[in-house]
Amino acid sequence: MIISPHPIVLYDPDTWSAQSDCDCACPSAPPVPHPPLDRPLRLRSHPLLRHIPLNTEYSVAFVPSFSRVAVLNRAARTMLALPVELNNDQRDDQRDGMITLCYRLGLLTENDGALPLPPRPDTLSAWLHVTNACNLRCTYCYVAKSDEAMTEEIGLAAIDAVFRSALANDYRAVWLKYAGGEASLNLALVDRMQRHALGLGTRLGIAVHGKVLSNGTVLTTRRLQHIRDLGLGLMVSLDGMEAIHDQQRPTIAGRGSFRLALASLERALALGLCPDVSITVTGASVAGLPELLRWILPRDLPFSINFVRPLERGVSRQELQLDERRIIDGMRAAFAVIAENLPHRSLLGALLDRAHFGAAHERTCAAGQNYLVIDHQGRIATCQMELAHPVADLSTPDPLALIRADRSGVQNLPVDQKEGCRTCEWRYWCAGGCAVATYRATGRYDVRSPNCGIYTALYGDVLRLEGLRLLQQSTGRIRREE
Ligand code: SF4
Ligand code: SF4
Repeated sequence: MIISPHPIVLYDPDTWSAQSDCDCACPSAPPVPHPPLDRPLRLRSHPLLRHIPLNTEYSVAFVPSFSRVAVLNRAARTMLALPVELNNDQRDDQRDGMITLCYRLGLLTENDGALPLPPRPDTLSAWLHVTNACNLRCTYCYVAKSDEAMTEEIGLAAIDAVFRSALANDYRAVWLKYAGGEASLNLALVDRMQRHALGLGTRLGIAVHGKVLSNGTVLTTRRLQHIRDLGLGLMVSLDGMEAIHDQQRPTIAGRGSFRLALASLERALALGLCPDVSITVTGASVAGLPELLRWILPRDLPFSINFVRPLERGVSRQELQLDERRIIDGMRAAFAVIAENLPHRSLLGALLDRAHFGAAHERTCAAGQNYLVIDHQGRIATCQMELAHPVADLSTPDPLALIRADRSGVQNLPVDQKEGCRTCEWRYWCAGGCAVATYRATGRYDVRSPNCGIYTALYGDVLRLEGLRLLQQSTGRIRREE
């Protein structure tokens, strides 16, 4: 541990724009702008500034909902405790450089305000349901499966529709999630769609990113090479080690799928892919989370932890339910494993469902704003959990306009419109949780998440983990200012 009489501030500049990918509407966003520095400033520490001690010298510092997350040493905390003046002509001074940084991070403030909100996302995300077939029968799956696959005609028209909306709404990039069902069962179509998208992107000056979302059970070496050679990313679902995963994700025949998924992940790594692992946590699986993370973390795989969503309004099977105490205890046990194997990637958007501590944001996800879901028949919906309620089709000139205008289906409201959230200190990092999960549990969109008790119990733990990560990795990509 470095002990210095000089202030030390550690932070990660990329925690918002380089967020972990998730299993639904999580588009990348442009970097958050710095607050203006165009005049002399009288600054003081933000009145809501909080510190969580990491050891005797360092603490993680943040203003819930409003600042970036940073680690400070004792001298930096002392520096922040007193009001300071910052003059334009002193920027090169080391102390003023440190004060400028703390102002930019939102730890020092002139008028108790917040940092600027992130700019409007420049990426349109699309969930492309390339097949309605799947060889698994996961206990929490919301897809009414059949043998139907998306045809080439619909697939290409779906890509055209995504680009129409991207052009009409000035997006600079599209993020395509090839999903289903089991998307790799229709990899020939994924190939056609991705090549078509790349061609359109080149012609229209729109960047194209794509990822295959898979259960990992039929990813032969050939299919993995195909995914890699198309430049696609890969996300594989893994809910626990063998017994837990197999209980939650059995095959149609009732057999386990864990060994197949694990072998695919190992093969993907050997081929140079870096698959994301999507973990769905249920009441039945949370106890196995520590063991799963002991497998994931040494392999340096990106991962995201998501809470199971109720299947229908008011219906959630007993074993899937999120018993608050059990989930909190299980998540804390998982966090203890992470603390022993800290990853180099930021944890601020990966650990707790849709919460993201990288920057203030008003909505939990991109649904209803920057997201299209296109099913195998070409029907377009707001969220993949609401495939049965499409609001547009492939003939629509700008499907996103109809998604945004729709008031009959999923309403992904700004957090300030959610009862119980308006005065919550975490509101612009949490944004109130998944709209579908809230509606199915409560019958309302304008209330806080049914998982709120879990979130509020664990947010401090997530911030402490991020602090430990920053401290451990204070060389390299993490910026260290002294
Ligand atoms: S769901 Fe809970 S933690 Fe999240 S913003 Fe609402 S009140 Fe705060
Ligand atoms: S509403 Fe919920 S399930 Fe739908 S995209 Fe958003 S976070 Fe995901």
